[in-house]
Amino acid sequence: MKYTKQTFLLLALIILQMNLFAQRDFSKVEISIEQVTENIYVLFGSGGNIGILAGEDGVIMIDDQYAPLSEKIEVAIQTISDHPVKYLLNTHWHGDHTGGNANFGGKGATIIAHENVRARLSKDQNMKAFNRTVKAAPKAAWPVLTFSDKMSLHVNGEDLIAIHVHNAHTDGDALMYFPNSNVIHMGDTYFNGRFPYIDLSSGGSVDGLVEAVNKALFLIDDNTKIIPGHGTLSNKKELTAYRDTIIKISTKVKEAVAVGKTIEEIKAANFTEGFEDWGTGFISSERFIDILYTDYSR
Ligand SMILES: [Zn+2]
Repeated sequence: MKYTKQTFLLLALIILQMNLFAQRDFSKVEISIEQVTENIYVLFGSGGNIGILAGEDGVIMIDDQYAPLSEKIEVAIQTISDHPVKYLLNTHWHGDHTGGNANFGGKGATIIAHENVRARLSKDQNMKAFNRTVKAAPKAAWPVLTFSDKMSLHVNGEDLIAIHVHNAHTDGDALMYFPNSNVIHMGDTYFNGRFPYIDLSSGGSVDGLVEAVNKALFLIDDNTKIIPGHGTLSNKKELTAYRDTIIKISTKVKEAVAVGKTIEEIKAANFTEGFEDWGTGFISSERFIDILYTDYSR
C-alpha cells in the first residue's frame, strides 16, 4: 500500500478520535499560564480552558479540566496567588471542564453551576454522538450552589456574572462575564477557529448556540478579552466571524433538510468549503455536518 498524504491525515484523525475518550497519559501534559488582565489568567493544559480571577478574597476558578491534572493545575495557580481556590464555577457538565471538581471541592472550594450541571453530573449520561455512556460523578463533584437564570459573585473587585444560555452547547451552559475587567469566559459555546461540538443529547442545539454567542456579543465591546472553551484567547471580531460561519453553514443545511435532501447529498454539497482548517480539531467538518443534520431533522 502506498501511503499518501491523505492516508497519513486520515490515520492522524483516527488516532485523534480514539484518544478523545481513551485513558490518556496525563503525565506529559503541561499547564501553561497566560495573563489576560491585571488579575485574570487563563490556564491551558488538556481539556477546557481554565479562567482564574486572583485577589484578596481568594482564587475564583472557572472549569478544572481532568482529575489527574488537578495537582499540576494547583501548582500553576500557586504561581499566581497565595490564596486557595474559594469558588469553582463550571461552564457546563462535560468531563473536560468538571473532571477536577471533587479534588478542588475536597480542598474547600465551593462549586457553583447552573442547576442542569448538577442534574447531569449526578446521573449517568448518554452521549449519543459518541455512542458512549458517562457514569455519574461522585457526590463530591456536584455543584453545591446552583442557579437557574443568572447569579453574581462579588469578589476581588469584580462583579462576576454567570449567565445561563438556553440549549446551546448543552442545556446547562453559562457565560462567565467579568464586567469590570472586560473579560468573558464563553465555555464551550465558543471553540475558537474550530467547528463547535454541540451536544444534542445533553440538550444542546445549533440555534441555541448561535443565540448564546449573540448574547455575548451584545454584552461585550471591541476591547473585551474572550476566553473560549477551547482554543486561544480571542476577541469580538473573531467571535463575530465564528458566529457568521456557523449561521452560514447551518442555514444551508437547514434549507437542504427542509427540501428533503439526504445526509449523503448534504455532505456531497460541501457546505464547509473554505473552512477546512475549522475541521482539524475535535469536530471534523463531516461530524459538524452530522450534528447540524441531526438537529434540523429531529
Ligand atoms: Zn463541552
